[in-house]
Amino acid sequence: MVTEAPPRPNSQLLLRDGIAAAQAGNKVRARFLIRQVVGAEPHNEVGWLWLANLAPEPSEAVDCLRKVLDLNPDHKHARSGLSAVLVRAGVVAAQANDHAEARRLLGEATKLDPASEQGWLWLAGVSESAQDAVRCLTRVVELNPKNERAKHGLEHYHAVLGRWSCPLCQSLSSAAAERCPTCKAVTTLENVAAFDTPTNADETAMARAVTRLAPQAVKAPGSEAAFFLGLAYLNLGQPAEAIKVFNAASQRPEADAQWKTRVRRLAEHWRSNEERGTSSGKDLAPPRTVMVVDDSPTVRKLVSVSLQPAGFRVVTVSCGEKVQAAIDEHGVPDLFVLDINMPGMDGFQLCKLLRKGSETAEVPVVFLTGKDGFFNKLRGQWAGAAEYLTKPFQPKTLTDVVAKVLESSASAR
Ligand SMILES: [Zn+2]
Repeated sequence: MVTEAPPRPNSQLLLRDGIAAAQAGNKVRARFLIRQVVGAEPHNEVGWLWLANLAPEPSEAVDCLRKVLDLNPDHKHARSGLSAVLVRAGVVAAQANDHAEARRLLGEATKLDPASEQGWLWLAGVSESAQDAVRCLTRVVELNPKNERAKHGLEHYHAVLGRWSCPLCQSLSSAAAERCPTCKAVTTLENVAAFDTPTNADETAMARAVTRLAPQAVKAPGSEAAFFLGLAYLNLGQPAEAIKVFNAASQRPEADAQWKTRVRRLAEHWRSNEERGTSSGKDLAPPRTVMVVDDSPTVRKLVSVSLQPAGFRVVTVSCGEKVQAAIDEHGVPDLFVLDINMPGMDGFQLCKLLRKGSETAEVPVVFLTGKDGFFNKLRGQWAGAAEYLTKPFQPKTLTDVVAKVLESSASAR
């Protein structure tokens, strides 16, 4: 705006004059003075706070308050102030029927200030699912038990939806359903023949269920969580994984008799199917195998639960020295996922070795590592890696990378 910078007066004095102007109601002059302060001192929290107060547009107030929070993330006034501005902007968006924008603004507002009753109330109004709405309204009533609008809203949802929640996708429904109306998954083992043909359950919802339930099932193999994990695998058309979960679980004392009966019935059904040659999944293409070499059991588990729902067979190996034995036992995989930092042979050395092996020379390698940086990427490329993924990673990212590398290696052949 200003082309010729005038000699810069003392910022303290400018700020004092600016605040005085603001208090006298002269907003234009106040903003003019305080803008100079933050221009000279971009770290001046007080300056940005006053500018937020004086902002003629909510968007400008948002920018100023974000500056304060950049400087001082725990600034209480800036957090609640920003939250309040975002709620106002969210209400405007909601009233203009821009629900996506309203959700974004109100979502951030309630994150900044979890005690924002108005934020939660409006967020309930623009929620994507009834379940989200119920969650938001519950927050409102927790914050203010006298909020009649929220109480009526909750009554409405409970009357419409009932209280059955799908064990796989967690959506609410009017009554317990053998097939969830939301994710289409078969949610019980009462009718085992339901799995003879694909259930067409929502794959994303099932993958999410696996990610959520697998850790619980590992902790308590005979729990309900393990049971539903098995169901998620069945809905994904991976009976082998389901059997693994059920078998591990059935031997546990905490699995009750009903649980075991259901699983036994399923096993019997499969056996008779197999005798008749109609087992589900038989006509599917054989799954592609990914061999994961990582010394951390957690990472091996994480890679498995990420890739299995996407239809990959996963073989895990704890160190480079055991890779040949694993190949002898399970066959040459379609892809390797290698950790870089391992005791003994590291990932780079292992990758070079695989490149020299007659069976493994063409098998693509994806590096999975906690180390980031250009240098490691380069070393990976020298060793012959196709891709490089930094921990921590999202299951989806890993699945995408693995699918992409397999696709490009298939087309290269
Ligand atoms: Zn469901």
